[in-house]
Amino acid sequence: MQTYEQELIEARRFIERHDDFLVVAHVQPDGDAVSSTLAVGWLLSRLGKTFTMINEGPIPQRMTYMDGAGQILDMSLTERSRTYGNVICVDCADFKRVGLVSQWMEDGANMLNIDHHPTNDRYGTQTLIKADAAATAEILYDLVSLFELGWDRNIAEMLYTGILTDTGGFRYSNTSPKVMQIASHLLELGVNGPELAESLLEQLTKPQFDVLTLALGTLQMSGDGKVAWVHVTPEHMAQTGAANEDLEGIVNYPRNIQGVEVGVLFKVINGSAVKASMRSAGKVDVAAVAAEFGGGGHVRAAGCRLEGPLEDAARAVIERIKQSL
Ligand code: 5GP
Ligand code: MN
Repeated sequence: MQTYEQELIEARRFIERHDDFLVVAHVQPDGDAVSSTLAVGWLLSRLGKTFTMINEGPIPQRMTYMDGAGQILDMSLTERSRTYGNVICVDCADFKRVGLVSQWMEDGANMLNIDHHPTNDRYGTQTLIKADAAATAEILYDLVSLFELGWDRNIAEMLYTGILTDTGGFRYSNTSPKVMQIASHLLELGVNGPELAESLLEQLTKPQFDVLTLALGTLQMSGDGKVAWVHVTPEHMAQTGAANEDLEGIVNYPRNIQGVEVGVLFKVINGSAVKASMRSAGKVDVAAVAAEFGGGGHVRAAGCRLEGPLEDAARAVIERIKQSL
């Protein structure tokens, strides 16, 4: 297996050798996914390459301030006129995380897989994976550095956004000395750190506040107080007008109760499936739990999707978490 330094050099070669790229991140993109898509776009622009950025759905409204955000195609609103033979996937632990956008790729496409999930299964024709990177944006900082193209405030804002959101505002255990050094450089380039923290981590839309209120009312806990979970139903979404992106962060509330080792948010998707988001205080590897249900993620933050009703999904996941305690 190549070292990270070798993979960086091979990733640069991959980009230099090819042109006409499709750039894609995971479905229901978070801050790191959007930032990483845009950072790759920034790099390709600088190199004079042509490319299309796309996601299976819309990007969250609160992330549209980044340069080029309006150029990320929403696949659900876009007629496909062609397919791509050169693909760059960012922040996707496995290939199925790109969702329906795979329809835009040629069979056997050249594919660069840039990611920081320990559960990454190394799909693609070239990988650039660093499992202890705080964010995919941290890896892109290294890649942009390697090209020696110089920096501007736009790329700095993208990379800062991905790192800020994936470290929970520089609080999670992935906040390494390197993260702080990178953040320091990005602030020097003119990023407005407090403003981004306010808009991305503090502010709630009214629907977001309302759906949070409903979710908190569903709290259940295991007898020993070590597992706490909440759920959100399609009725909660309809009643509050909340969008998927408004559920970000809810899972932290059950996790934050003193004594709780694992917090879970179950989101019912139209009655036939359930999305589980898990957060661990550190003792339980929730990526391993998620992997058993076909999902993945990080030791302290992971997710998976289960077919069937809420009660069955919750019972299966909570049972599996209790086994790891
Ligand atoms: P969240 O709970 O915020 O949706 O995701 C937490 C972490 O788990 C993220 O790193 C995310 O990429 C990962 N994750 C969430 N859902 C899935 C899934 O269905 N499959 C995989 N492989 N990873 C997931
Ligand atoms: Mn990420």
